[in-house]
Amino acid sequence: MQKKGRVLIVDDEKINCSVLISLLEDYSTIIALNGEQAIQRALSDQPPDLILLDVIMPGLDGYEVCRLLKKNEGTKQIPIIFITVKATEAEEAKGLNLGAVDYISKPFSPPIVLARVSNHIELKHQRDLLEHLNITDALTGIANRRRFDVSLEHEWKRVIRMKGCISLIMIDIDFFKQFNDIYGHAAGDDCLQKVAQALDKVCARDIDLLARYGGEEFVAVLPGTDIEGAMTVANTMKDCIIALAIPHEGTSIGDCISISLGVASNSNKDIEAPQILLKQADEALYKAKRNGRNQFSD
Ligand code: GH3
Ligand code: MG
Ligand code: MG
Repeated sequence: MQKKGRVLIVDDEKINCSVLISLLEDYSTIIALNGEQAIQRALSDQPPDLILLDVIMPGLDGYEVCRLLKKNEGTKQIPIIFITVKATEAEEAKGLNLGAVDYISKPFSPPIVLARVSNHIELKHQRDLLEHLNITDALTGIANRRRFDVSLEHEWKRVIRMKGCISLIMIDIDFFKQFNDIYGHAAGDDCLQKVAQALDKVCARDIDLLARYGGEEFVAVLPGTDIEGAMTVANTMKDCIIALAIPHEGTSIGDCISISLGVASNSNKDIEAPQILLKQADEALYKAKRNGRNQFSD
């Protein structure tokens, strides 16, 4: 049976962990026997959907762990339930004020623990879905403009700190208005999906991001890639769209769908801000259009 979610159990007493593991048999469970381990596990590639956190532990106690997890961008969205013998009202208030979603006192009632875990995991899944929809383009399934804006800002800062380079590629489908006019809007949507998938395959590195910038325009963020690298990627993108061979009678470029691309990078020019990088990629795109389309320019 498919597990209902991932729960991180944090308790310095192995026996307490074992009891919770058998209780939570419908979930996949991970154990941490101290606060440091808890933080490590929460920051891993496969973070938990929920943390059950003991308060009294040697070293970092539960409150301190909660404080640290809530301060960290990568872990602050993971719901925490304290599960502890420290059951006074003041302790409970302290735990909730630190950002925990719930507080369970020991000895606990197994059905109540199960019900609370189930409710909070359900809420977490709904939040994850909302977050996903918020940053995803509904038609193509790739990143949307919002995610692009955040990513460009973030990657720019990171790259500047490391004195590295970053490149952008702006991409626009050629004669797409005519495509819609000839084949209809539904075929246009289908074409956008195929183009997005093909471009996404070219942005293969984990840190690369392809987003739908709007309409029939896409943009690729390539952190750590210089202008030569970005031009190679742009050339591959141009070829892979031609290789799709989507028939287009209304184009002056052969007889199928093509794209034009504009490339900009901070590796060959002094650029002070991400908005300027974007503007230059846009200008390069229009140069590629003016020069005859189905090509990239910088
Ligand atoms: P150019 O080669 O200069 O880029 O010409 P173009 O016709 O591609 O550019 P233009 O900006 O004139 O037209 C863009 C068209 O893209 C207009 C619009 O109907 C179409 N479009 C934008 N968003 C969507 C969409 O979500 N679905 C469909 N089917 N068409 C879209
Ligand atoms: Mg176009
Ligand atoms: Mg356009």
